[in-house]
Amino acid sequence: MMFIDPHAHMVSRTTDDYEAMAAAGVVAVIEPAFWLGQPRTNVGSYLDYLSTLVGFERFRAGQFGIRHYCTIGLNSKEANNEALAEGVMELIPRFALKEGVVAIGEIGYDEQTALEDKYFRLQLDLAKELDLPVMIHTPHRDKKRGTSRSMDVCIEHGLDPAKVVIDHNNEETVRECLDRGFWAAFSIYPSTKMGNERMVEILRQYGARQIIVDSACDWGISEPLGVAKTARLALQRGIPEEQVRLACYQNALDAYGQSGQMKEADWLNPVDIDQRALYEGNSILRGGREPRVEKLANRRSMDDLIIK
Ligand SMILES: [Zn+2]
Repeated sequence: MMFIDPHAHMVSRTTDDYEAMAAAGVVAVIEPAFWLGQPRTNVGSYLDYLSTLVGFERFRAGQFGIRHYCTIGLNSKEANNEALAEGVMELIPRFALKEGVVAIGEIGYDEQTALEDKYFRLQLDLAKELDLPVMIHTPHRDKKRGTSRSMDVCIEHGLDPAKVVIDHNNEETVRECLDRGFWAAFSIYPSTKMGNERMVEILRQYGARQIIVDSACDWGISEPLGVAKTARLALQRGIPEEQVRLACYQNALDAYGQSGQMKEADWLNPVDIDQRALYEGNSILRGGREPRVEKLANRRSMDDLIIK
């Protein structure tokens, strides 16, 4: 079975994580632009960060057999630094149209301040203008109200709910997302957001239509195998395979594929892994390490849905 992890902050993860994800069946990741755990002090560091997402990180993932896509946006926390935000807003249009960018995101509310609201709305307009999907980060505090409000604002700005993914849902918010026609994503994030046993119960209750599972793995305590483990657990607990395939693969492809930047052919016909490759003169290898060079003889397919 193939998986897509449509929310993974891979710049924070190690090469071991990439290897484990690939071995578990993850064929593609989407890396949303977000904050780094501490505020950036100037627009230059944001510029370099966005360059990494569309550049070196994409290359690095490919060195482990995983396709890397990203979303571009000004996150809600840093929207509260107006000087920085103004500078970042000037960068976003130019990055949003680069290869492999599948959405504007993750954007939305954190503390639901006036500045967060301002830059959320400006970025929704930009997404509409560029005809790109949107990935919405919903707040941890006052989640239910923040999630409803995010959807209200999307509708107010004329976005099609079918092009908007509402992320970090839980049992309290899922019904409204589905009823209003948005994609409802769930971050399987240990101890805080959503454990995967709860996720399996949501699949049992609501089915998998419009539902997307992601790991949201980042620099915090998180689990890069969140999607693969949830899929396996769901199958063990009797969720039909087709529903698991939708929630852990197909729906993410359908939602973000609307960008025109993400196609199944990207990973069904993978390039060989050749760690001798260079990115702007640099490889992922250090010292005299032997590069891994692999001909992918057995192309991945959907023929075998069972994880063993
Ligand atoms: Zn995130």
